[in-house]
Amino acid sequence: MKEFDYIIIGGGCAGLSLAYELEINDKLKDKTLAIIETREEYKRDKTWSFWKVFDHNFDDCVIKNWNNFTINTSENLHELSNKEFPYQSIDSGKFYKKINSKLSTNSNISFFKGLNEIKTENSIIFNSIFEKELDKSELWQHFQGIEIETPKNIFDEDIINLMDFNCDQRNDVHFFYTLPFSKNRALIETTWLSGLEDQSLRDYDLQLENYIENNLGIKNYKINFTEKGAIPLFSPSLKNSNKIINIGSAGGMTRLSTGYTFLNIQEHSRYIVKNIDNIYDAKTFSLGKKYHFLDKVFLKVLKKHPKKMPQIFFNMFKTSSNTIIKFLSNKSNIFEDINIISKMPKLIFLRALLN
Ligand SMILES: Cc1cc2nc3c(=O)[nH]c(=O)nc-3n(C[C@H](O)[C@H](O)[C@H](O)COP(=O)(O)OP(=O)(O)OC[C@H]3O[C@@H](n4cnc5c(N)ncnc54)[C@H](O)[C@@H]3O)c2cc1C
Repeated sequence: MKEFDYIIIGGGCAGLSLAYELEINDKLKDKTLAIIETREEYKRDKTWSFWKVFDHNFDDCVIKNWNNFTINTSENLHELSNKEFPYQSIDSGKFYKKINSKLSTNSNISFFKGLNEIKTENSIIFNSIFEKELDKSELWQHFQGIEIETPKNIFDEDIINLMDFNCDQRNDVHFFYTLPFSKNRALIETTWLSGLEDQSLRDYDLQLENYIENNLGIKNYKINFTEKGAIPLFSPSLKNSNKIINIGSAGGMTRLSTGYTFLNIQEHSRYIVKNIDNIYDAKTFSLGKKYHFLDKVFLKVLKKHPKKMPQIFFNMFKTSSNTIIKFLSNKSNIFEDINIISKMPKLIFLRALLN
């Protein structure tokens, strides 16, 4: 059996991002890499969106950039603009294609279906999979999105709706998210923040159908693409060992209050590549204790007071667009943190902090 210098378990967003970063930084000229991936084929399966708070390798995979966004409850709507940090959506199909065609030019990189096909004893292993099923009773962000196309131009393509809480909450937290890619094409997602045990919340098709017809007033459309997912909003208890370094969602790269992961994965990949020659001695990369702590308190409040959350989210955005974007992208300074914290209902958060 063949032996490799590096092994990446899971060739998804984190695994491929890391492989690409290693390759473009010439770290695989004299080293070998095995990627363990079970999927039969790569095709568009996700749309990764985020505020571009730093440059990344995938501008050519971007579907669209926006500088304006809204958030609304059933009573109020708030609009924000930002020229410095555009909101971007990445087409995963283009991302997979770009990376796989680059990796295929290097014969030091090989793909395998299972770890049992190679020797692992002396390799540095990066893992992006959860081996065990995660707890369904914990808090998850679960959702389904559809890209629809309409015969007429009806969307304002310059503005996204980040959170529309004007919908059925069913004692949990629920919103719709609309990304207009053009005047007649948009991704519309129904998103829940709840446990995964309640099957009744997963009538996503019906939720989308009703929203598109009744809230957006669209009767005539076709569906181009569907994506479905569930992101754990809790830290899985995966710890780096002296042999295995966890990456991606399994490596704690998800911001727990929002589910944003993509750009954190890019930052983590860069950090690994920078430290690759002494990776076992390098400090474990994390999104920061501050965000971990604040998100934990926020999610405690969310679990206890789901009905209050539309207004709490809404109030969070009543600040400068730079402040909220940097806070949600883990790039805020202490003054920006205080600004956001000051928008929260004090007593409820204090109680969550003490319990
Ligand atoms: C539908 C969807 C939309 C999302 N949208 C956003 C977004 O807009 N913005 C954002 O920041 N984040 C988003 N996320 C969250 C996060 O960015 C993605 O989940 C991202 O794909 C995480 O990367 P990952 O490498 O950790 O996991 P994955 O990309 O899921 O990669 C894991 C890989 O491991 C493979 N695998 C699984 N089991 C095995 C096994 N036993 N052996 C070998 N390989 C295996 C899988 O096939 C997969 O390719 C989204 C998540 C989903 C599910």
